[in-house]
Amino acid sequence: MPVSDLREALSAVSATSDDLAGVETDWTGRVTGRALAVALPSTVDEVAAVLGVCRAQGVRVTVRGGGTGLVAGAVPDDTVVLSTRRLDQVGPVQDGSLVAGAGVTLRTVQDRARRAGWDYGVDFASRDTATVGGSVVTNAGGVHVVAHGTTRAQVLGVEAVLADGSVVRRLAGLAKDATGYDLGQLMVGSEGTLGVVTAVRLRLVPRLTGLETALVGVASVADAVALVAAVKQRAAGLRAAELLLPEGVALVREVAGLPALTPAAAYVLLEAQGGLEDALGQVDVVDAAVALDAASAERLWAYRERMTEAISTLGVPHKLDVSLPFGQLGPFLAALPGALGGHTAHVFGHVGDGNLHVNVLGPDPEDETVDDAVLRLAASMGGSIGAEHGVGRHKRPWLHLSRTPAELAAMRAVKTALDPDGLLNPGVLLP
Ligand SMILES: Cc1cc2nc3c(=O)[nH]c(=O)nc-3n(C[C@H](O)[C@H](O)[C@H](O)COP(=O)(O)OP(=O)(O)OC[C@H]3O[C@@H](n4cnc5c(N)ncnc54)[C@H](O)[C@@H]3O)c2cc1C
Repeated sequence: MPVSDLREALSAVSATSDDLAGVETDWTGRVTGRALAVALPSTVDEVAAVLGVCRAQGVRVTVRGGGTGLVAGAVPDDTVVLSTRRLDQVGPVQDGSLVAGAGVTLRTVQDRARRAGWDYGVDFASRDTATVGGSVVTNAGGVHVVAHGTTRAQVLGVEAVLADGSVVRRLAGLAKDATGYDLGQLMVGSEGTLGVVTAVRLRLVPRLTGLETALVGVASVADAVALVAAVKQRAAGLRAAELLLPEGVALVREVAGLPALTPAAAYVLLEAQGGLEDALGQVDVVDAAVALDAASAERLWAYRERMTEAISTLGVPHKLDVSLPFGQLGPFLAALPGALGGHTAHVFGHVGDGNLHVNVLGPDPEDETVDDAVLRLAASMGGSIGAEHGVGRHKRPWLHLSRTPAELAAMRAVKTALDPDGLLNPGVLLP
């Protein structure tokens, strides 16, 4: 079918957009693809109708939320882009949860929760653009995983349209429901390969007050790890433990115009409900900047929040998001220069979860030598090649380093059962 006819068929069942360029590149600018058309359904029935048109025409579909993903999963490849932007309804807060459309941003969920005296347990720097649907299917993490778990732990129910157009809907949010396979949780981490998530019931968490925030300089990465271990044990309600290294701090200071910090070999940004002082007394600390109010806490957070953006000013990074057993963080960082082949890397991350973001600058976008070396290093130390950003297109060749042949076969069987023709997100997740 000519592309013009495809676009006409899609516009008969849903709004469409002429802005193809706006959906063809990933957030980092490392990968660009080609979209045949962009569909903007605003109801679950319209999502099913869009999939029906594409199925009938033998055209595949790339699902796109906010486009902030860091593994190029939402970049089209001669596919129709199904944008969830107009699935933007938010229901009332009831019994500590709410139902949000897949296209609702994390910021909106947080605002709605806070207005009702609650909070949402997931937060990260792309909150103004990243969507509920994208965060669910990538099982996004962020800065509060030490307190509330990843997105998976917030999902009480999901509505999704499967490749054949059928709708699975479990949004009642029953505390107990032991009636077989949990199809909603199956969608978590599926990266859009099993269905289009259209709405989610999200668990909310109590709103914490009186939080203590400190940016602590230490003499080595080993001391940073020891500090986080002490804080985990002693501080009440630990909410965040983020690692920064001096090169990253210098860069973010320059880009964001932030004041200098006392020189140290590593920095840990900590947020807890209480007990930070006690924990800090257990380890050698070079310096600790402690926030006395919300405004100064925000200033300390800026060193971490602006990091991804600051790194992007240097070029197109190879973003390698790995997790390690807690005790392997120091050895991994010590071995990392050997895997970089002479290139530089900015490393920071959610140290409380054993999660490091390795941003390598220098190699061409399509040169994967460094990606290979870093991901193999993490896997050889018992870590994961994809901690919270997912697998997407970037990491498919290395999935076998984190998943056994039996697991890959089971994942493939699930994909084939739910999407036998490979309609949804071709080229994403599965090798
Ligand atoms: C500055 C910055 C900071 C970040 N910090 C973090 C962080 O701390 N922790 C973290 O985990 N991530 C982080 N990210 C990555 C990113 O924001 C998350 O992965 C986010 O969850 C992606 O949401 P999105 O709506 O932008 O998804 P997209 O990028 O649009 O899509 C991501 C994947 O989900 C699929 N998808 C999207 N919506 C749906 C749907 N409704 N149904 C089915 N499939 C769908 C897409 O096909 C794609 O495979 C950061 C990104 C940036 C730019």
